[in-house]
Amino acid sequence: MATDPQRAATWRDAKVVSVDHHGELGVILRLHVPDRVVHRPGQHYVLRLRAEDGYTASRSYSAVSGPAEDLVELYVEKVPDGEVSGFLAEVVEPGDVLECRGPIGRWFAWDGATPALGIGGGSGVAPLVSMLRHARAVGRPELLHLAVSAWTAEHLPYREELEAAGALVAYSRQKGGSRLDAAVIAAIADPGATAFVCGSARFTLAMESHLLSAGQPEASIRIERFGPTGENAEHG
Ligand SMILES: Cc1cc2nc3c(=O)[nH]c(=O)nc-3n(C[C@H](O)[C@H](O)[C@H](O)COP(=O)(O)OP(=O)(O)OC[C@H]3O[C@@H](n4cnc5c(N)ncnc54)[C@H](O)[C@@H]3O)c2cc1C
Repeated sequence: MATDPQRAATWRDAKVVSVDHHGELGVILRLHVPDRVVHRPGQHYVLRLRAEDGYTASRSYSAVSGPAEDLVELYVEKVPDGEVSGFLAEVVEPGDVLECRGPIGRWFAWDGATPALGIGGGSGVAPLVSMLRHARAVGRPELLHLAVSAWTAEHLPYREELEAAGALVAYSRQKGGSRLDAAVIAAIADPGATAFVCGSARFTLAMESHLLSAGQPEASIRIERFGPTGENAEHG
């Protein structure tokens, strides 16, 4: 009999159940994944697109859904000229079938039973929303503290859900906005918690540096980077 890691590594056909566009920026896909291995909050799936000539392209997307939800929910931000995100955001419709495997990732996964700090920028909030839903499902919302950042309110996926949960929200390019700067991160740093940091390379580098300056132990910081390094890559 196949073990969970073997099953997670197997490509399977997932059916797209719903497609909800988040303005011009991205899309929420809900997938029925047959015989799925239940993920831990923070883990991701790989989607593979296949062209008629056999060419394939695969990319990783974090689960947004909590482990207890029936469907696997993914948030895909439309990256300019992005090969896979553009297709997922613009072409995919309910009823389509996408190849997928997962869940993947042992390091960036929350156990749901110990204190955690989630810091996310832009689409980097995706795995944190999974953590939030899991914390609610297991009745331990007090274990998870969230701080999230986006250019403006429109750029923050799951804004209402995050705000309702009491997440600290910073809009870096909004009139009267703010940043998750050293002072903000110092106020929420917690040496007794695991810090999950997710977003662009520039965002995660800055947050790691703020956390370390605030005395967060290096071994307690876990980082997931979504995009390329560079000036234009930050949505946080
Ligand atoms: C573990 C993991 C989990 C991830 N989870 C998510 C998720 O939940 N939601 C999500 O939207 N993405 C997520 N990503 C990023 C995702 O895998 C793709 O990299 C992203 O969708 C871009 O793929 P693409 O084929 O559209 O772009 P590509 O065709 O690969 O790249 C097109 C251009 O965009 C640039 N680019 C690539 N990625 C980004 C980016 N993120 N931001 C800005 N510019 C970029 C490239 O340098 C290139 O110039 C995750 C990545 C990893 C490694």
